Amino acid sequence: MQSPYELLVLAGDDVARLLPMCDCIDIMAATLAGLAAENAVQPLRTVIALPDGRGSLYTMPAHAGSPPALAVKLVTVFPGNESGPLPTHQGVVVLFDAADGRPVALIDAAEVTAIRTAAVSAVATSALANGDAGDLALIGAGVQARTHLEAMLAVRPIRRVRVWSRTADRAHAFAQRESRRHGIRIEPVAGPGEAVDGADLICTVSAASSPVIHGDRIAAGAHINAVGASTSGTRELDTTTIVRARVFVDQIEAALAEAGDLILPIRERAIGPDHILGALGGVLAGAIDGRIARDDITVFKSLGLAVEDAAAAGLLYERASAGPLRAPSVRMPPRTSD
Ligand code: NDP
Repeated sequence: MQSPYELLVLAGDDVARLLPMCDCIDIMAATLAGLAAENAVQPLRTVIALPDGRGSLYTMPAHAGSPPALAVKLVTVFPGNESGPLPTHQGVVVLFDAADGRPVALIDAAEVTAIRTAAVSAVATSALANGDAGDLALIGAGVQARTHLEAMLAVRPIRRVRVWSRTADRAHAFAQRESRRHGIRIEPVAGPGEAVDGADLICTVSAASSPVIHGDRIAAGAHINAVGASTSGTRELDTTTIVRARVFVDQIEAALAEAGDLILPIRERAIGPDHILGALGGVLAGAIDGRIARDDITVFKSLGLAVEDAAAAGLLYERASAGPLRAPSVRMPPRTSD
């Protein structure tokens, strides 16, 4: 007879409570360094686009070696949700016991994605931005803008924040809400150019499919975390930005398959694939030079990796199963008859 087992269920609030940004930044740095050292197994994700064009389903399996975690994230992206109460990214991470294969946790993927993506950008910022970078431009005012603000505040001495969103009201609401939350002044601005003028730290966190960032507006020395645009035909950065920059990615194979920000300039023959200098994990390991000069423009192109979700899920499970933070669980009964 099969044995019963418990499946922890972690909702978004549990994830937010158990995965503070600073801890997530540390675990993402370790995970990306582990990936660079080939201490992870991670195929390219599969994407099914619905025939009616409303959304896509992503399947993202991974095994992270250190700390060990075996998981698959199943996430849907429905851009049309942004006008209603549901988030555009929804799903679950299923975590398995890497020793015996038992499923051990079912975790809200929206909050994991929100936190781990920004934490990875913080790792990139720590590694690539100038140490005194503190004039932050947020391009987009959604979920990722919220967590990226928190992540940037954790790793750089932020002295100014400008935010632009396609819908002006959304940028204003974001500025009001997040100013209160963090006790800082945030300026909503009318256009992306106005947001990035003179900025030395830029996070593009929009669902734009054509460039919102133009390279002739980027100040020397700026670092850009390019987070939106995760398909080969879409981009947030124009070709000039990419040509001017030292470019790093989360994973080269994924970038060459999915990052329109890089694939489109390659197709235009403005750059070759070797313009991508390497993966962030290689920079962390000291195998690849990151920023060389103060005036370099650096770009970290983020697509989001399954191994990041697996590592975050592993940490969440460890914390949720222990002590006073224990989360609810579902007992999975065995079959009662043959
Ligand atoms: P939200 O839906 O919460 O926010 C989307 C933002 O993009 C809003 O500011 C919205 O503006 C803006 N936007 C939407 N369409 C356009 C457009 N055509 N042109 C310009 N701006 C537009 O999304 P998230 O914050 O969750 O995600 C932001 C981006 O990051 C998405 O592209 C998403 O796929 C990507 N992402 C990347 C991850 C990674 O690991 N790299 C992980 C998760 C998300 P408004 O509402 O004002 O109209």
